[in-house]
Parts: sequence; C-alpha cells; structure tokens
Amino acid sequence: MGGAARPRAHCQNGGMWTLVLNCGSSSVKFALLDVQGGQVRLSGLAERLGSAGASARVEVDGARRAVDLAGGSYAEAFAVIAGALDELGVREQVGAVGHRVVHGGERFSAPALITPEVLAGIRACVPLAPLHNPANIAGIEAAQAAFPEAAHVAVFDTAFHQSMPEVAFRYAVPGDWYRQHGVRRYGFHGTSHAFVAARAADALGRPLSELNLVTAHLGNGCSVCAVQGGRSVDTSMGLTPLEGLVMGTRSGDVDPGLHDYIARQAGLSLSEVTAALNRESGLLGLSGLSNDMRELEEAAGRGHAGVRLALDVFVHRLAKQMAGMAAAMGRVDGLVFTGGIGENSAFVRGAVLSKLAVLGAQVDEAANEAAVRGQSGVISAPGALAALVVNTNEELMIAQQTQALLAEQKGVQA
Ligand code: ADP
Repeated sequence: MGGAARPRAHCQNGGMWTLVLNCGSSSVKFALLDVQGGQVRLSGLAERLGSAGASARVEVDGARRAVDLAGGSYAEAFAVIAGALDELGVREQVGAVGHRVVHGGERFSAPALITPEVLAGIRACVPLAPLHNPANIAGIEAAQAAFPEAAHVAVFDTAFHQSMPEVAFRYAVPGDWYRQHGVRRYGFHGTSHAFVAARAADALGRPLSELNLVTAHLGNGCSVCAVQGGRSVDTSMGLTPLEGLVMGTRSGDVDPGLHDYIARQAGLSLSEVTAALNRESGLLGLSGLSNDMRELEEAAGRGHAGVRLALDVFVHRLAKQMAGMAAAMGRVDGLVFTGGIGENSAFVRGAVLSKLAVLGAQVDEAANEAAVRGQSGVISAPGALAALVVNTNEELMIAQQTQALLAEQKGVQA
C-alpha cells in the first residue's frame, strides 16, 4: 500500500484523534473524535461551498461559532478546520482522517487506506453514484493536501452490504446488465446498520453473532437491513439510494414501467422523471406539504388529509419491508430503529410495531414515548419480539473503522 503517509509516531492520546469528513457536492460535515472515549472536541458543517453564501458552523469544545467562507472551496473549509485544530493544540495529533465514501461498488467490502489505486477504484464507481462519488473524491484530494501527514481512509456506505448473497443482490434483468454494467443491488447506510446492530446486541446482552436483527435507518433517506450474525444479508436500497422505502423526498419502490408512462403522458425526459422521483416525491410528494417528519406529525394533529396519507403510506411500506427482511433471515430476534425519525418518532415506531404483530411485536407505550431526543432502549412489551431504539453515530463508526484498519496494517507490518 504505497503512496499514503503513515500516522505520526508521536501522537499523544494513543494516536486516537481521528478527523471524520463527509464531503458532499457543496458541503463538508466534519468531526474530531477520540475513538476510545467517543469524545468529540470539534464538529461542524461547511455549507453552500462554491457559492457566494458559503459559510461554516463550527463547534470547538462545546462553543459554537459561525464562519463566513464567501466563495469558499473545500480548501478554505479545511483551512477553517485546521485553524480549529491549532486552537485546540491537537493538529499534530491527528494521525488519521476517515472519509465517508458513498459507493464502493463490488470492489470495496471493507474500509481502505487511500492510495492512488484506491482513489482510482473510487473513481471507477462514479457512474454508479454520479452525484456523490465525484464530491467524495474532490474532498479526499483537498483533505490530503490540507492534512498531508495523516493517513487517509475511505469508509464506504455500500461495503457492509457486500456480504449479501446473490439471491438478494441480483435483479431479474438481462444477465449482461449485471456482468457488463454492474446492475445489481448494492445497498447504502451500511455504516449505520452495522453500528446499530452491534449496539442492539449489547443492549440485549447477547452476542451479535447469534442474532438475526432487522435494522431500520429512518432519516431523510430511509432503508432497512437484515443483519444476520452481524452481516448484512439483505437491504431495501438497491443500485441507487432511490429503491425501497418511502423517504423524505424520494419515492422508494415504484413500478419500473412508471418512467416510460409518465414521460409520455407528462412530456418529461428520463432525467426529469428521475429528478422528480428523487426530489419531489416521498413524504413531500404525498403530503404536498413537507419532507420533514416532525413537521408532518404536527400538521397531522391539525387534521391535514394529505399528511395523514403520507404518514400512513410511510408506515405501511416500512412495515412490509421489515417483515420482508425477517423473511430473508427465516427468524428474527429484534427490530432496531435509528436515524432522526427512528430515534424520535414514537408515532412511526408504534404504528409499525402494531402492524408487525404478525412477527410477535408489541409496543410498550410508555417506553416508546420515552425513547426520544437521545434516549435509547427497549420499547417492546415484556415477552414480545424485542424492539429497540438505538442512536446511530456514523462519525464514531467511521473513526473506529479507520483506526481498526490502521491498527491491522501496523500489525501486518510489524
Ligand atoms: P439525515 O438523513 O439527513 O441525517 P436525520 O437522521 O437527521 O436526517 O433525520 C431527519 C428526519 O428526522 C426528518 O424527517 C425529521 O423531521 C425527523 N425528526 C427529527 N426529530 C423528530 C421528532 N422529534 N419527531 C419526528 N421526527 C423527527
């Protein structure tokens, strides 16, 4: 693995300060974590990069501030991060940078130290994630320039799902589409599904290797995963993050014949149809009001009919997908809810669990109502199929995976 710098030998804190970066096309989300204690000393979000209104929100040791980045680039955002690291006096101790990378295709089933070859591999996946991977690559290159002494590691959203068997990942389409063009199901949110499955096993006091869990990551994007013995064996997202559940603005599953029909009827191009399915559909399209679950729950209380429908369809489809994941494993030991909706919406969880009585689920109303705003735990009635709320922490998982890979490589070299 030539090319990338090694972590500095003189890192204090066991060399465990890890900078985690999530680079989008016009944003960078960042966090500086201590992997062992989970302590976060620096975090923030740089937004609207490349435009006149670029700015960053930075939190240093709990103190928040806003920074103007007018016309800002990744480089300027990283200069702000570097400045904050200097302020904390830890810049020399950041031995590793973990990068969230959306698509790793079939090539990456685990985190990878970023070498020129690995970067080429991420570039080869651009056709599979044309919006995300180019931004991830640009972010990696700018971060390597800003933090040349650190080891840079890519952690892929798709990697956890590479353990899916062929029966789960193949589409029933012409075989050459798969062999020549990579048309198959990849799945996303892998870091979160892996993290919450492990945390759920801890909460249940049982080894992850013995558990069949259905995890539901419900944020702006939503997906469910069948986690058997800690490995993904099926998931609801596919070739792209558009497949599966109803999401904030994404449709999830539709009839594949819809594209041709609506293109002809409404005079839309194929890319206009795809854009509408990504940005104008889901909770927003159904409710005609908002993509935001909290706002919808408030509006439902005021008797908004479109909103009621949006919530009902969301729950209906989620329950069907979770039951489907249980069928993919043959047995289910626990249902796990995470993401902004999963961690906060007692309504969604309660409604889904009531539909999943078919699997033996039953909600404990008081525990369900209490599991909001960072409170996690078991929300199922005694004796029923276990259901849990687990707070996801993708930054911590990326930092842990980054450090685990570096420790493994150090071990190999020794
Ligand atoms: P992202 O996928 O962008 O990380 P989040 O995981 O933060 O998003 O989830 C955002 C979703 O969580 C939004 O639909 C938001 O309304 C919902 N959410 C956050 N808090 C609550 C709440 N108290 N009740 C219901 N939904 C909530």
